[in-house]
Amino acid sequence: MARLSLDELAAHWQHQLNRFDDAVKEGTAEVAMRHKQELADHFYAALLGHGEAGALLSHEDVKTRLNNSLQGWLVNLYSSQQATEIQALIAHQHKIGEVHARIDVPVHLVLHGARLLKGRLVELLHQQLGPAQRSQAASYATTLIDLAMEIMSQAYAVSHERRSRAEEGYRLFAVTQNMANEKERQRAALLNWESQLMFDHAMGLAADQLPRLRASEFGLWFRHKGAHGFEGALETGLIMDAITEIDDVLLPLFAQPATGEAPHSPTQLLREVREQSRSIGHHLELLFEQNNELESGRDTLTRLLSRKFLSVVLSRQINYARQAGNSFAVLSIDLDHFKQVNDTYGHEAGDLVLQQFASVLLNQSRAGDYLFRMGGEEFLVIMVDVNDANARRAAEKFRQLTASETFRLPQDVTINLTASLGLAMFTGHPDYQQLLRRADSALYEAKHSGRNRVVVAAN
Ligand code: GH3
Ligand code: MG
Ligand code: MG
Repeated sequence: MARLSLDELAAHWQHQLNRFDDAVKEGTAEVAMRHKQELADHFYAALLGHGEAGALLSHEDVKTRLNNSLQGWLVNLYSSQQATEIQALIAHQHKIGEVHARIDVPVHLVLHGARLLKGRLVELLHQQLGPAQRSQAASYATTLIDLAMEIMSQAYAVSHERRSRAEEGYRLFAVTQNMANEKERQRAALLNWESQLMFDHAMGLAADQLPRLRASEFGLWFRHKGAHGFEGALETGLIMDAITEIDDVLLPLFAQPATGEAPHSPTQLLREVREQSRSIGHHLELLFEQNNELESGRDTLTRLLSRKFLSVVLSRQINYARQAGNSFAVLSIDLDHFKQVNDTYGHEAGDLVLQQFASVLLNQSRAGDYLFRMGGEEFLVIMVDVNDANARRAAEKFRQLTASETFRLPQDVTINLTASLGLAMFTGHPDYQQLLRRADSALYEAKHSGRNRVVVAAN
């Protein structure tokens, strides 16, 4: 089903509102307002007992923040009647759906929560409203919750899909991390198959016994991994075609007696096979070339990770830390007065500094850590498996090493630089954006309290 636009949804929402009397709407809004605390408590008490939901909601922050926002949500839902209020309300439901997707709240849990709320609210309406309004109010109350759920689920589905695609991309990225190695291995595998073919042919093997490319080491790799990793590229199709041409057209021709009028002498055939194989090698080269750097999630200047996979890596790290019960930290780094480097020595010199800074980071981090270039002269380190004290020590070490590094520019010019750093420990909060925000505000504080320092975000 095509997605409804904001205007269409608003019209839809308005249409539902028009179905009910003002007295009913006002009565419902009053009851929701008066009992918002009780409804939120009821919701959380029930969901905390639910194993799956309990794990997501147990964080203290989540409990207080969501309890408050749930109350606000209820009040808003029934008090918004004007066109602009309705638009804002819809946009808000959309946002909630995106948050659910980000922290992996399954849709069935959201629906379960909605059912709890509806049940309790309808009970309250029955107790508190006169007989003339009760049943209309119940219908009104549930209609609006259902509408809100519909919009949330739609936003959830879109975000979830986007996220799955990013995860898929990351998986392929991880599989083909070592692109240069893989390329050499596969080129060698292709040549191996070719010499095996020449040898078997020279030994007089029958056509149906000659080694098929698709069953060779290279063929297996390409059909199962390469074609998947390079999906959508023109060359992928060309390589598949060439494999078919060799296996199904050229190799069977070796069986035919090489009589005078036969169009294919074995030498001729071997030459054609070799040509096909060469073109496969050529296409392969192009595929690997296209797929490196930016495409595969690395920043071209520094070779650090680009922010493309930041959300995937953080979501995984959060899941991992929650399951393993350990912690990790996010360190946000920004070079101080970097613009001056560019202004004084030129952009290229600035680039060299960024590269050298990236290697300072690389040398100082552990193998399990993730290093990102977020853009410009902003970097981010995810330190895995660290406690608070170790993370502080590591951040301070990064700061010191930066300040003591001699950055080499062309023409034997050297300069010194400092960096400001914001450190945020994982607190158990399921939303990675909260973690990033904390690291960023700590960095902001480091900048504004004088630079060249580490500020640790409050938990
Ligand atoms: P602050 O201490 O407040 O961080 O000062 P700053 O000058 O570092 O801050 P600002 O963010 O204003 O400037 C960042 C500069 O980084 C702006 C731009 O000239 C430079 N920059 C961004 N990306 C690149 C890049 O890829 N290469 C080079 N050489 N410079 C870049
Ligand atoms: Mg900056
Ligand atoms: Mg800066």
